[in-house]
Amino acid sequence: MRTNRMTPAQARRTRRAVLQAVVDAGSRCAGLDAGAWFRGDDEPAIDWRPRRDSAIRVCTGCPVRAACEELALRNGDGEPDADELVRAGLTGPELAAVREHQAERLAAAADLDRDTEGRRLDDLLAQLHHEATKDPDHKAGTTRTIAACQTAQNTKVQALATQIRKIRTARRARTGWEKAA
Ligand code: SF4
Repeated sequence: MRTNRMTPAQARRTRRAVLQAVVDAGSRCAGLDAGAWFRGDDEPAIDWRPRRDSAIRVCTGCPVRAACEELALRNGDGEPDADELVRAGLTGPELAAVREHQAERLAAAADLDRDTEGRRLDDLLAQLHHEATKDPDHKAGTTRTIAACQTAQNTKVQALATQIRKIRTARRARTGWEKAA
């Protein structure tokens, strides 16, 4: 029997989504106050350090720590001189040090992420165009009213638009624009 096996290139391209799914499914910080992993604006070191150490302790026992670290590195979290967050049990300067050490591998991963994201965006835009321009009664059959079909279509369009907005916002944030226009 013939099996459809993923090529190494395909596997690398889907890695980011896989990492995110792993973190979403098993993170120890899910449901906790996300602010506990970030230093507040102008928060003095004497207040931040014990909070930082508590966050690191939670990460230490987290089953998805390795995936979380790779995502943080791919996302560019952490700066050499900014002790203001914790990811995967590492402070910002520690993440920056790991990133520098693995610069070549991460640059290649980031390129693949951008490719993957671009393809996903194109796909979502095509779906949005198709959904927004099709006849709402096209597949109505006999059991659904046109109004019900229209409502379902609007819901789909909104969901697609939300996904597109999220991707664009993330892309703009990476280039310093922060919010999608
Ligand atoms: S390693 Fe830490 S920041 Fe990452 S998912 Fe686990 S608890 Fe959350």
